[in-house]
Amino acid sequence: MTLDEIKAAVDAGKSVHWFNEGYIVHKDDLGQYFITFAQNASSIGLTNQAGNRLNGKEHEFFVTSDTLGHSLHCSECGSEDVMQDAWAVWNAELQMHEVLSVMDHAYCNTCDGEAKLIKRKIRQYGGTAQIDQVAEGERVAAAKAHQATIGTYFTEGM
Ligand SMILES: [Zn+2]
Repeated sequence: MTLDEIKAAVDAGKSVHWFNEGYIVHKDDLGQYFITFAQNASSIGLTNQAGNRLNGKEHEFFVTSDTLGHSLHCSECGSEDVMQDAWAVWNAELQMHEVLSVMDHAYCNTCDGEAKLIKRKIRQYGGTAQIDQVAEGERVAAAKAHQATIGTYFTEGM
């Protein structure tokens, strides 16, 4: 999220966090924005004193809300590549199985073993993903330009 996105989300009363849900971004009565670590209530400003540089990286800020739902993760490695045992019944009308009930027993494909699952609120990271795509495009272009230069060098050298 950009600084403007973060401020707009806080102003709109959304739950805004930095890095994980333990850090809460909020505004005080004087209109100053802070990042507070909930566990010990220690705070730093959202930006430097000039107010033009974030104390944190744009892609580390996100919004959560109950309406966004949640995702399931392995408690050991955090992976979402997990499965649960379930009872399935055959639906003759749809010609496919339907899940009747889901059991607690779970398996993590990343750990390749039994797993305990934890719920995490879905996070919204704002427009940062698009910014990252632009950066990736620039990186690819730079790599191609570099390869072209090397190609020219070898051609001239031979
Ligand atoms: Zn795992």
